[in-house]
Amino acid sequence: MEEYIAQLVDSLTLEEKIGMIHGAGLFRTAGVERLGIPPLHFSDGTCGVRGEYPDDLWEYVGDGSDIVSYLPCGSAVASTWNRQLARLTGSVLGEEARGRGKDVLLGPGLNIKRTPLCGRNFEYLSEDPYLAGEMGAELVQGIQSHDVAACAKHFAANGQETNRLWVETIVDEKTLAELYFPAFKTAVDKGGLLSIMGAYNLLNGEHCCTSKALLNGTLREKWGYDGLIVSDWGGVHDTVLATESALDVEMDVTYDFEGHYMAKALLNKIRSGELPESLVDEKVKNILRLMVRLKMIGSDKQARDRGAYSTQDHHQAALEVARESVILLKNEGNLLPLDEKKIKTLAVIGGNAVATHAFGGGSAEVKALYEITPLLGIKKLLGGNVQVHYLPGYGVPVMGGRPETSWQAASTSGAGGERPKEPTLTKDNKEAAVALAKSCDAVVYIGGLNHDYDVEGLDRESMKLPYGQDELIEALLQARPDTVVVLLAGSPVEMPWLSKVQSLVWSYYAGMEGGTALAEVLFGKVNPSGRLAETMLLSADYCPFKIHPERVELTEGNVGYRYYNRHHNGNGETPVNFCFGHGLSYSEFVYSDLKIQGREAPFEVSFAVKNVSNVAGKETVQLYLQDVQWTGAQKLRRFEKVELNGQEEKRVTFYLADEDFSVYDANKKDFVLQKGTYNVQIGASSRDIRLDERIQIW
Ligand code: BGC
Repeated sequence: MEEYIAQLVDSLTLEEKIGMIHGAGLFRTAGVERLGIPPLHFSDGTCGVRGEYPDDLWEYVGDGSDIVSYLPCGSAVASTWNRQLARLTGSVLGEEARGRGKDVLLGPGLNIKRTPLCGRNFEYLSEDPYLAGEMGAELVQGIQSHDVAACAKHFAANGQETNRLWVETIVDEKTLAELYFPAFKTAVDKGGLLSIMGAYNLLNGEHCCTSKALLNGTLREKWGYDGLIVSDWGGVHDTVLATESALDVEMDVTYDFEGHYMAKALLNKIRSGELPESLVDEKVKNILRLMVRLKMIGSDKQARDRGAYSTQDHHQAALEVARESVILLKNEGNLLPLDEKKIKTLAVIGGNAVATHAFGGGSAEVKALYEITPLLGIKKLLGGNVQVHYLPGYGVPVMGGRPETSWQAASTSGAGGERPKEPTLTKDNKEAAVALAKSCDAVVYIGGLNHDYDVEGLDRESMKLPYGQDELIEALLQARPDTVVVLLAGSPVEMPWLSKVQSLVWSYYAGMEGGTALAEVLFGKVNPSGRLAETMLLSADYCPFKIHPERVELTEGNVGYRYYNRHHNGNGETPVNFCFGHGLSYSEFVYSDLKIQGREAPFEVSFAVKNVSNVAGKETVQLYLQDVQWTGAQKLRRFEKVELNGQEEKRVTFYLADEDFSVYDANKKDFVLQKGTYNVQIGASSRDIRLDERIQIW
């Protein structure tokens, strides 16, 4: 392959090569027809293949042929803790991208969630690097099984939208290696990642998209990555830096393609001898290598997957993933599942019962073939024998404080857009909702957020529910303490009424069949098995990471539960609404008989888990290693989703290797085994440890 690529590079003129390394359309590069080299076609995004744009206008083509399947968002996929479902999601995304004629799908989003306020958290998988890496690698492999490259983004340490192009992120080497890199590294090593996107932010003094330390040093040299590196759209700011960095393709949001930094300006610098042509050759080689791997050129061209989109199989896949992404957070007195036979009238209250979310959020927006809302899902499930009465309860302004078609064109000039002004809760709405709730046999409240809050380019100011929802929920709970509360959102919210609610269900934006899945969980057709891939704090005040427009220094070396489970004003654990890994089931699981074998790694850790109820269900067993001697921090090291029939017991075995006990040593520039005492914890969540045993690493 390398010989073939070298020959092709030799046959290309400088102009042709330059055409290949920058945008020639909003989502494509230029090809070289005379040599049979096609353009490289990119498309967002993380929840489905984005609508079709012409080369030079931020307005969808609009002929209706770009309508696709809408998949659960990254956070929803991660909440399944089911590797097969991550693979399935990836496979659907990849097949749809190929079906739409794309070569590179701009996802998954592997950034570590460090603050609950980041506007794009819904696209990202987790606060935990191991979970994000494991699920991310499956997404990557799924996407790439259809001759489409996944493009993991945004590399690296990108965790806020505020001033996203210019915010300076300072992170020490150890924190990068242990927290912000691993998910990407796993995507490369285990997922065989074929392309990666540089982040907008600066990292330790350099813009990520043109950072020599990050791209040349870490990615190419240390990790041996030979895939494609593409900039985020408008993430390049200098011709020399871009050319000298390991970046291969510069993309931008402007239509001035010749004005890109790696276009005419670069041509001139090479002609004048200021930059060597060999730098361009390296980039072109990486592009051609990707093209061979995707069967775009070379001997396998005829065998390239043709793809398919909006197929029934994909809709079914979206449903399967959605079902396992729903998280039962609380279920006192087993209020759920609701028994449809005992209900003649059901009150459904809250705007998210009828809202659709596919076409929102920024570059993750998709034109969905359909989207089953919760109300539709509930009515479809119940049929005609139950009367379902809906009221919005709260008012939602018309979505989109920014013009839908052109926000992206303005996105690199610092215009994050404005959120529409929140209407306050009206007395009328509240009273009508309460009256309805009182008059029905059962009450389900369905609220939460929408893409006015979970959105690219804007962070949230707080975790508070908008539109007066807290007041409404309080009123409903007072009138009907058995109100089931469902929150549908992309990021955690404050829950001041939590102690009063008996049953609480969480759903991320769960794709086109999200409403079906939710209804199935509420009425017990599906036994919930989602688990939190992030901590749900009481409020954002408990998060040690603050969003700052100019500079964020990530001095705290731990993120998420690794921090919250051992820190609170210097000691103890942070009080939370729900901890990382939490999620209930209609079944009950009991753990027993932990055995650890081996005096040194690999250790064999095994235990039994039994479903002591009569309802078939799925338990996500989690193994944390707590470093007792040094930092006290817990780290998720293994997990498995185990399916168990009523009364069934299974034994689970995990192996722990040296690398699980390793930490980064900045002097040695590598991971080293950390000797000492460790607590092996087997839990149903990071704070619900059922079995544990200490081991010694000598
Ligand atoms: C986003 C990327 C996206 C790209 C192309 C940027 O604004 O940050 O995630 O892939 O646009 O739409």
